Amino acid sequence: MAARTAGDFVPDTHDLDDLAEAALGCKGCDLYLNATQTVFGAGSSAADMMLVGEQPGDQEDKAGAPFVGPAGRLLDKALAAAGIDRDRLYVTNAVKHFKFTLPERGKRRIHKTPSRTEVVACRPWLFAEMMAVQPDVVVLLGATAAKSLMGNDFRLTTHRDEALHMPVADATPHLEIDPEVVVSAHPSAVLRGPPEAREMAFDALVSDLQFAAGLLGK
Ligand code: SF4
Repeated sequence: MAARTAGDFVPDTHDLDDLAEAALGCKGCDLYLNATQTVFGAGSSAADMMLVGEQPGDQEDKAGAPFVGPAGRLLDKALAAAGIDRDRLYVTNAVKHFKFTLPERGKRRIHKTPSRTEVVACRPWLFAEMMAVQPDVVVLLGATAAKSLMGNDFRLTTHRDEALHMPVADATPHLEIDPEVVVSAHPSAVLRGPPEAREMAFDALVSDLQFAAGLLGK
């Protein structure tokens, strides 16, 4: 029997509102069981740049919107430093439900990295968003997003400052677009890094965003 994925729940449409509504009922993997809600992407269908993160965090899970917590605030700062207006972007995550663990004591939910199975299960939503928006440039923020589109063996650190293209794979025969792809660190990795390295990591994120924006001007 084929593995359960979001593919069973993605409607045949390029309308972002219809996709977002359908995603609310997704049971393509088990992550919907404990999360508050699906956190679909946000932004204009006319966006020329798409940013893809890993998964919603605690605050995104509660708000139902991507990149509204601490990582989102850092991303906003990086976008401002790079001279990119967030209004021209479509922002989403590789996985649409918050995965977390609860420590034995305390109530604070701790982020847990989604498994490869969960990333692959959720990928039909990301493909549907890409087909709806048809971005010219996609920026993959962090290893989970990078592996979702570039393959499980992809090493993010060796491909920064490069304009890439998604591999043609069995998983993507229906994806009829070929945007330029740029990889960078996830803003939460910048926040979690040692204090003495944060400024450099932030500057590198800004530099990657500027590189991505520069591809649009070609
Ligand atoms: S994480 Fe993705 S595939 Fe899994 S239930 Fe949520 S929307 Fe569906």
